Amino acid sequence: MRALLVEDDASSALLSRSVMESDGFAVDVATTAQEGLTCAMVTDYDVIVLDLGLPDGNGITIVQALRRSGRAIPVMVLTGNNDRATTVLALDAGADDYVTKPLMIDEFRARVRALIRRGGAKRTEQIAFGNVVLNRLSRQLFVDGSEVSLTAKELPLLEHLLLHGDEVISRSELLERVWDMHFDPGSNVVDVNVARIRRKLADAGANVRIGTRRGVGFVLTLQGDSASEPSASDVS
Ligand code: CA
Repeated sequence: MRALLVEDDASSALLSRSVMESDGFAVDVATTAQEGLTCAMVTDYDVIVLDLGLPDGNGITIVQALRRSGRAIPVMVLTGNNDRATTVLALDAGADDYVTKPLMIDEFRARVRALIRRGGAKRTEQIAFGNVVLNRLSRQLFVDGSEVSLTAKELPLLEHLLLHGDEVISRSELLERVWDMHFDPGSNVVDVNVARIRRKLADAGANVRIGTRRGVGFVLTLQGDSASEPSASDVS
């Protein structure tokens, strides 16, 4: 899942970002209203976490612009304790929820999860492929009913492949969805993480495999499904 954090305070941004990353989000950070608006308009985020007091204006303008353009991306507003009036304005403008700063980490996590749960049909709670089941809210993976532990990067990577079962997904798409937009595209992190997930799936007895399409990307297939099983030359 991909999140946009619009926050000009560096230490606050660092905290919110690390909390969301540990929950499996790829997080882009914008530090001005203008930058936040540009990101929000060009990328399909699962959630936007928005500080209201930004150096070049009020974050409410981002909510207004999003809603005017018909975008229903869930927006969580970060607000100061003594700023009830602004919070009300933000909710009226189309923000979905708010948390007060300084952040209570558990509450922040729970509210972001609740927002995504309400985020619509596209955000299915559970994805199943073969004997592999991912619960997107609890962030747990099960193979044949037994939980398999994945890291904060392995989980969203597999999630993206599960959401697009049988489709070939490119390395650059995985880098963008799972890491963030500034990640070095020459990096081999995708391959390293795919290799680890493969091993974990195999060890757990999954009947699903991650195939490699050389020069293109990866595809999740059911084992024994000869139609989608890659030929030997496809496997690197
Ligand atoms: Ca601020």
